[in-house]
Amino acid sequence: MEKLFRKAQKYTLPQEIKKMGLYPYFIPADGIIGPITQIQGKPTIMFGSNNYMGLTNRPEMIKAGCQALKDHGTGCTGSRFLNGTLDLHLELEEKLAKFMGKEAAVTFSTGYQTNLGVISGLATKGDYIISDSLNHASIVDGCRLSYAETKVYKHNNMEDLERVLQSIPANKGKLIVSDGVFSMEGSLAPIPELVELSEQYSARLMIDDAHGVGYLGDHGEGVGGHFGLMDRIDLVVGTFSKSFASIGGFCVSTEDVANYIQHHARSFIFSASLLPPAVAAIIKAIELIEKSEDLRKKVMSNARLFESGLRKLGFETGGSETPVVPVYVRDELKVFKVWKELLAEGLYSNPVRAPGVAEGDELLRNSLMATHTEEQIQDALDIYEKIGRKFDMI
Ligand code: PMP
Repeated sequence: MEKLFRKAQKYTLPQEIKKMGLYPYFIPADGIIGPITQIQGKPTIMFGSNNYMGLTNRPEMIKAGCQALKDHGTGCTGSRFLNGTLDLHLELEEKLAKFMGKEAAVTFSTGYQTNLGVISGLATKGDYIISDSLNHASIVDGCRLSYAETKVYKHNNMEDLERVLQSIPANKGKLIVSDGVFSMEGSLAPIPELVELSEQYSARLMIDDAHGVGYLGDHGEGVGGHFGLMDRIDLVVGTFSKSFASIGGFCVSTEDVANYIQHHARSFIFSASLLPPAVAAIIKAIELIEKSEDLRKKVMSNARLFESGLRKLGFETGGSETPVVPVYVRDELKVFKVWKELLAEGLYSNPVRAPGVAEGDELLRNSLMATHTEEQIQDALDIYEKIGRKFDMI
């Protein structure tokens, strides 16, 4: 017992950072997380959410959630496998499969659980998982949980991926896994090359499009649609906690694969099902996203406006192509200092350091919403300019 808890007693880093007045986590917001969010009683420009389509405060979403709460109560108290399936869950899975252009969908209680369950359920002893070095933590943990062997290739480096593929015996099961939009850098995975290589080496391709579904593609179906290659991606996973403004995760693929996952993904089987108000809000979000080309375009134009403004000011942004716009600080203490001053000026961003990014790549993660106004974006640029000069970043 003593030995087990000793490391907890010795772990004082958060307290030290708190003493410096720089602790950036668990800061409560009041009310709804929207383009302007009340943080500690102060209206603040919210550049730290994943609410890309700005749907969290849409009256239609709130109405759908309230109605489901009345109709189905506060929870399902069981796994989808047993008593936890409502008509609503089936309706969602049917709508989602159509929306994503795939045969079938399986929904999970979070995106994190989706990756754990799908990867460890599908790839087993004797198989290989080939994973991008910057993939999300939930993919990394899914690989750890699987009995397959994991090999990592350099981020978005197709030569390195091919080298790894060549090193694996031809007759082995192979699953290539990549984020669709990388969650800290805002860069896109090279889907055409991933598709080509997966086909050439008889590997299956799984894309985690948590950050791309909602605004990319013909109608929000994500990075597969953006490249016109959805039919050649074997499996897409995603989350409802970003553009869909709710909570939960999903996987879409063929009927066979969905059926297999329903019966082998332990995080699906051994965990309670999605809450009724969440499911109803997601169904509404799909409808809204499909018909809101204006919002899908707006989130991208907002992001380009902000990113080009930052670049003109002289910030290092890494050339993001999506609503995720990083500002590199490259110093683990300075990133907290800059974050604190931005917040004091009325701008909420997320400071990210290892293990969220590699050491030396510390950054402020900004994410734009379709519902930010151009005036708010200009205010955010003015704040960045003021603080950037103070910290010799520009
Ligand atoms: N995959 C990626 C790429 C993510 O960024 C996230 C969340 N940050 C997840 C999966 C997990 O999603 P959720 O929040 O629904 O657990």
